[in-house]
Amino acid sequence: MGITQLVMLLLCGLSLPFCTLSSSHSAEDKLAIARFQQYLKIATAHPNPNYKPAQEFILSQAGSVGINTQVLEFTKGKPLILLTWTGKDPSRPSILLNSHMDSVPAEADKWVHDPIGAVKDNSGNIYARGAQDDKCIGMQYLEAIKRLKSQGFQPLRTIHISYVPDEEIGGMDGSEAFVKSKEFENLHVGFVLDEGQASPNEHYRVFYADRIPWRLIIKATGAPGRGSKLYDNSALENLMKSMEVIGRFRSAQFDLVKSGMAEHGEVIAVNPVYVKAGTPTPTGFVMNLQPSEAEAGFDIRLPPTADPQLVRERISEEWAPAARNMTYELMEKGPLRDIQGHLLLTVANHSNLWWLQFEKAISAAGGKLGKPEILASTTDARFVREKGIPAFGFSPMSNTPILLHDHNEFLNEAEYLKGIKMYIAILEILSSYTETVDDIAHKDEL
Ligand SMILES: [Zn+2]
Repeated sequence: MGITQLVMLLLCGLSLPFCTLSSSHSAEDKLAIARFQQYLKIATAHPNPNYKPAQEFILSQAGSVGINTQVLEFTKGKPLILLTWTGKDPSRPSILLNSHMDSVPAEADKWVHDPIGAVKDNSGNIYARGAQDDKCIGMQYLEAIKRLKSQGFQPLRTIHISYVPDEEIGGMDGSEAFVKSKEFENLHVGFVLDEGQASPNEHYRVFYADRIPWRLIIKATGAPGRGSKLYDNSALENLMKSMEVIGRFRSAQFDLVKSGMAEHGEVIAVNPVYVKAGTPTPTGFVMNLQPSEAEAGFDIRLPPTADPQLVRERISEEWAPAARNMTYELMEKGPLRDIQGHLLLTVANHSNLWWLQFEKAISAAGGKLGKPEILASTTDARFVREKGIPAFGFSPMSNTPILLHDHNEFLNEAEYLKGIKMYIAILEILSSYTETVDDIAHKDEL
């Protein structure tokens, strides 16, 4: 061990699991890491994502790889970049790898490194907004294709990669518009991989469904009164009763998670996000007056396995009952069923050939998969699942703290490089398979 390596090892100190010696990477790997850093340095955070330089960077990378490029624009100023590697048999259903170019904002003063600096520390951790969510996968897709091409590999199925805008603000002008378009129809997509999340242990996480967001606003009214008087049916009393009932439901759902009977993504989450009441004064609120109106807002997340009708009934009968002078507004941000009426999820078992191939690819590349999960939040994958197209959420980041949308988001360079290997195996295996469920059942019988 040379002096430099010894110093680096000492510098890595306690963070040894995330520690790698940069000097051990090949020239090809070093270039791949530099390209990742370059992409991270492009400012695509909301509220003003600068998509133009991201578009130019992706197009130049795709040009050097030698695959077809298209820029679609469903809303002016919001480009969607589509790359295509045509397979030997384009009549077969294609594979689509999706990632989003935008990211949430970062509070730079709370970070140890500049959130758009893509600084790599001595442990090989690369800090930037988007390092985990999800510029990593966007670049890993391209790196995998680059390496497969240099090995002379030719896919049987066509492979598409999409870089979409606006995922972090709902995807209406990005993925949603794309998936509903004629251009998407023409791609004949059979399977989609979209973003997942980091895993703090050695198992990669894979998501077969997202929870669907609902927004609920409940409003209470009642006669106004003196601050000193006890009387029935004041607006705030009615609202407080609802808050108690909703709180009990929330606790019961959370108890399932705490006891280990359910994962976070499998329960209905109800979280209060604001409460509005009172009569404001220039310095605060009027203190001797009970107001005649009060309202509260809730973020609700439903797994596709929940019965939406039961939740709707609960809201109208218990959470905001007319009998307590209450009204409500419910915004359901997407269905829990696909266009054929099936649950909005992708089956992750042996009846799904894509799942079988995916599992095979991860183990062929030396990765380990955790138990498939429902994502607690929401991604663009819901739009393709609505069409009945199988889609998994997967971002290959093991032994990595979950830092999406958090301060000091980072990804270690070694994990990033390992992720490229996962996508090489995924693309090789998923783009080539020709077996049917019957072939596999037959093999199992032998
Ligand atoms: Zn994301």
